[in-house]
Amino acid sequence: MPEQHYLEVSGLSKQFGTGDGAVTAIRDVSFHLDEGRFLSVIGPSGCGKSTLFNIIAGLMSPDAGDVTLMGESLLMKPGRTGYMLQKDLLLPWRTVADNITLPQTLQGVCRKKALQNALPDARACGLEALLHRRPDELSGGQRQRAALVRTLQSGKPLLLLDEPFGALDAITRLSLHQLLTGLCLRKGLTVLFVTHDVDEALLLSDEVLVMGCQPGRIIGHYTLTQAKPRAITALAHPEMMQIKADIMVLLEQEVKTDAAG
Ligand code: ADP
Ligand code: MG
Repeated sequence: MPEQHYLEVSGLSKQFGTGDGAVTAIRDVSFHLDEGRFLSVIGPSGCGKSTLFNIIAGLMSPDAGDVTLMGESLLMKPGRTGYMLQKDLLLPWRTVADNITLPQTLQGVCRKKALQNALPDARACGLEALLHRRPDELSGGQRQRAALVRTLQSGKPLLLLDEPFGALDAITRLSLHQLLTGLCLRKGLTVLFVTHDVDEALLLSDEVLVMGCQPGRIIGHYTLTQAKPRAITALAHPEMMQIKADIMVLLEQEVKTDAAG
């Protein structure tokens, strides 16, 4: 029997629309990931990254293929993964405390206990002094930290993070990278992470998938062996520089093909 991996994505395809207007969002996407690994997906806008994540999150059915977590299909089973988007989706009328405890209170845990459970993550993310604030009283980085803590409170071992830091400035992003790597290593989380930023992918990941457009498909898969957590200087390592150059060439070809087509 073939070896079973923690997460297996096999032969996923999804088309939107029919006839002339049909878009093949993803075609025959397959990869696997072992527990505790961090995989980034990088690719041009519109190459099907969010479609892939929506299918893995059980929110959208594929036309073909399957996704399994420890051998069990995730298809159309929402709520099995922790999902975080670029837009933080914090509830504006609730305080940080009430936002980050939401996944647990929805599961029936009382507010006090839920807050007790969330406190270590809130502390680790520097939110302890901000628990009484509402989202519009926070900076962009603080909001994403609150959204991250809320995602962690779902207690799901597989996290899907779709461009969570895409709207943040470079310095804020660096501090969130360190935070995320620390949390993932400490909790043994398995993460799928979408980014447009090659350096971000190289700093955070054990593996990087590169996707091409129309149809959305995998055009490159790299394994990074540098120890984590990685300082920004890790980007100057020859292995990293070579992989970055390879990824940039792949992405450039995609953009050229797109412009020609
Ligand atoms: P990415 O996240 O990589 O930017 P998406 O997965 O959002 O890409 O989209 C992939 C392609 O599928 C795009 O061409 C997009 O316009 C199309 N698409 C995504 N969702 C829908 C939908 N619900 N209906 C029709 N087309 C869609
Ligand atoms: Mg997207």
